[in-house]
Amino acid sequence: MEKMSYQTFTRSNYEQIPEISRLGQDDKEAIRVVGQVLPFKTNNYVTEQLINWNNIPSDPIFTLNFPRKEMLPRKLYHRTFDLLNRDLNRETLKSEVNRIRMELNPNPAGQEHNVPVMDDVRLHGIQHKYRETVLFFPSQGQTCHAYCTFCFRWPQFSGMNELKFSMKEADLLFKYLKQKHRVTDILFTGGDPLTMSTNTLVNYIKPLLEKDFKHIHTIRLGTKSLSYWPYRFLSDKDSDELIALFEKIVKSGKNLTIQAHFNHPVELGTDAVKQAISRILNTGAQIRTQSPVLRKINDHPDIWSEMWRKQVDLNCIPYYMFVARDTGAKQFFELPLEKCWKIFRKAYSQVSGTCRTVRGPSMSCEPGKIHVLGVAEVKGEKVFVLRFLQGRNTNWVDVPFFAKYDPEATWIDQLRPAFGDEKFFFELDDQGYKYLNTNKNDLLLE
Ligand SMILES: *Cc1c(COP(=O)(O)O)cnc(C)c1O
Ligand code: SF4
Repeated sequence: MEKMSYQTFTRSNYEQIPEISRLGQDDKEAIRVVGQVLPFKTNNYVTEQLINWNNIPSDPIFTLNFPRKEMLPRKLYHRTFDLLNRDLNRETLKSEVNRIRMELNPNPAGQEHNVPVMDDVRLHGIQHKYRETVLFFPSQGQTCHAYCTFCFRWPQFSGMNELKFSMKEADLLFKYLKQKHRVTDILFTGGDPLTMSTNTLVNYIKPLLEKDFKHIHTIRLGTKSLSYWPYRFLSDKDSDELIALFEKIVKSGKNLTIQAHFNHPVELGTDAVKQAISRILNTGAQIRTQSPVLRKINDHPDIWSEMWRKQVDLNCIPYYMFVARDTGAKQFFELPLEKCWKIFRKAYSQVSGTCRTVRGPSMSCEPGKIHVLGVAEVKGEKVFVLRFLQGRNTNWVDVPFFAKYDPEATWIDQLRPAFGDEKFFFELDDQGYKYLNTNKNDLLLE
């Protein structure tokens, strides 16, 4: 494999992208303004091989990486525009921009409630919400090879340190996992943990292969590198070591799952991504795929059925379709829940059973992952049928429940229980969310 040189583009140098001259003044202004609030980064693989520059600005991959004016609410756009024209010093500008960011729900779904405490210390680089799976945010992996404009993890990259989940201390992770015998899966996430050097990754993973961690069956790596920089697995200076690490994990008897993030079939079409997928699968690892459904990127059933089919052709396993989270540029990307379900249903009905390992549309919200099963009529009332794919409380999982039909609702907090009920079964009273039985009991299990 020929070595690819890696060049990233941000707000300060994106004008070096050769095709950028095709953008109008307004589009450039949007990059300057929106890019001040939400993180912006792309790279030469994305600009050379994924974006169709004859189709900007509506090209899906352009929209996936480049800020557009409508990605900020109009009021906030103008506030940011004015700030940039006021000749403020760096500190003032930064604090004003952070105030604007706080209006974009930077930490959706109450993620801080997932942070566990051990020996009176809050473990800021761990989230443990579902009994079997621990998320780990290695501090060296809190960036990506490019940034998605819809990203729900954007405060990880925006220098809003008080909102950031990350941890360097592998020892704390190991100590925590040793105590938690019900945990079977550790999921490295970020950012993108495959932006780390292989050496750093080895330091986190190698100890997990020892006998103290027999209860950990699956090591998962959540990554968008296949889509944004497949050379990570092919020709970077430590690619061979990365592949050797994958082989070592599999040889140790553990399952290695790459949770790959693909938003559009274009990302599966280059020679580089195909070679990278094949190289990963040859180690014995699995690749499972996921994406949110996003207006202006993949809001058509044919896009999804094509994507799932291509994934299965390449031996990947379709896993989740998510609803775009309530944060950042959400108002640009959001779709009504009913529309998300219709896209899912139509796409799902066009593919064979080998693609139907996928589940969705699913909302990752405070109580759990809520699956929109569909719209139905029960006792003369039109309702959404829902269920938990994952719950803070394991007893909630897979129990069907009903919400009043609302054609405009885009997120769980806009839904009301059906049949005149006051509460959903998992809510106790109106002092915010309070659960019949919080996951504390679940998570204390060792
Ligand atoms: C989605 C998610 C997981 C993993 O869930 P799976 O259904 O096992 O893939 C774990 N923790 C959190 C907080 C999640 O949002
Ligand atoms: S790859 Fe994931 S974490 Fe990184 S910017 Fe995209 S959505 Fe966010």
